[in-house]
Amino acid sequence: SSTWSLNHSNNIHMEPSTLTTTATTTTTTTITTTTRRRKRKIVIIMGPTGAGKSRLSIDLATRFFHNAEIINSDKMQVYSGLNITTNKITIEEQLNVPHHLLGTIDPTKPVFTPSDFRKLASEYISDIKLRRGLPLIVGGSNSLIYSLVTKRFDPKSDVFNGPDPDPVSTELRYDCCFIWVDVCLPVLNKYLSKRVDEMLDSGMFEELVEFFGSGENNVINKSGLGQAIGVPEFETYFEKFPGFGRSDGGDESEDDVGRSEAYDEAVRRIKDNTIQLAKKQVSKILRLRDAGWDLRRVDATEAFRALMTSDSGGGRVAELWEKQVVEPSMKIVKHFLDE
Ligand code: ATP
Repeated sequence: SSTWSLNHSNNIHMEPSTLTTTATTTTTTTITTTTRRRKRKIVIIMGPTGAGKSRLSIDLATRFFHNAEIINSDKMQVYSGLNITTNKITIEEQLNVPHHLLGTIDPTKPVFTPSDFRKLASEYISDIKLRRGLPLIVGGSNSLIYSLVTKRFDPKSDVFNGPDPDPVSTELRYDCCFIWVDVCLPVLNKYLSKRVDEMLDSGMFEELVEFFGSGENNVINKSGLGQAIGVPEFETYFEKFPGFGRSDGGDESEDDVGRSEAYDEAVRRIKDNTIQLAKKQVSKILRLRDAGWDLRRVDATEAFRALMTSDSGGGRVAELWEKQVVEPSMKIVKHFLDE
């Protein structure tokens, strides 16, 4: 709100509804205008790990909302390093869509908190708005999303964890369009297990060999990137079997057998923990929805089911993804922006 002082003789044209005239003494009238600033519009793509949030954000940004810029809200992907292990979208996959807070935080420094995210992400939102862009917040860490969008954020409160979590605030400081990419959990779990194998095939193990071999594991913050799924699970493996080498069967020595078993155990724990992460993330989303947050759910289950069915071709997956995820999301965002 702003205060105007002016002389009676001045001729001003303003909408009466925006003016309140207050007491006047001699020749001066004080007019207070309560110009309520419209809240800034942002789009938030939420959902459990593996549900396709990054893919959807790129589809929306490249095909419908060309002014979109992505702010990452995955608390492990904010750190630099371990790109495969934390499953960061690659430069090629980004298709030139600007990304912020993706791999930009030093993992050796104090842990990146929700308060840090609130501050940095809101600055990015201001910058994007100055460019007339559309901020797309994309990532599965609901504590980060919560810290960013609530009007009053108390860093000491925890609305998600413990036997008696704090109440969820519904007062938001942005005009938010929440898209929740949902996949029914049994289908998602099957996919997540396969995804871990694919991540290993694409170099996750080698990335961790380098990470443990270089001593990086000793300098990173244990409560930050040190918690990324894959790091604690492989820690005992690398303590016992430092460096490279993985038995692929054949002429196995006793040590090879031990190595192979420890490897399989680490992979099994990674799969279990990833599945647990997804489940926890969904329960946090449900908590926000139950508190009254207007989350718009899009269901990617059929697309994932097709993906997991070996006889269905890629075309069918793409078609289902398009019809059941991209199109509804595009309509939701269009409608939101037109409001
Ligand atoms: P929040 O609870 O803050 O909303 P979140 O759902 O992303 O965040 P947590 O429930 O804190 O994550 O995480 C459970 C485990 O999964 C933790 O060990 C966490 O570090 C790990 N984790 C979360 N995201 C990733 C990721 N992108 N890559 C690897 N591990 C991750």
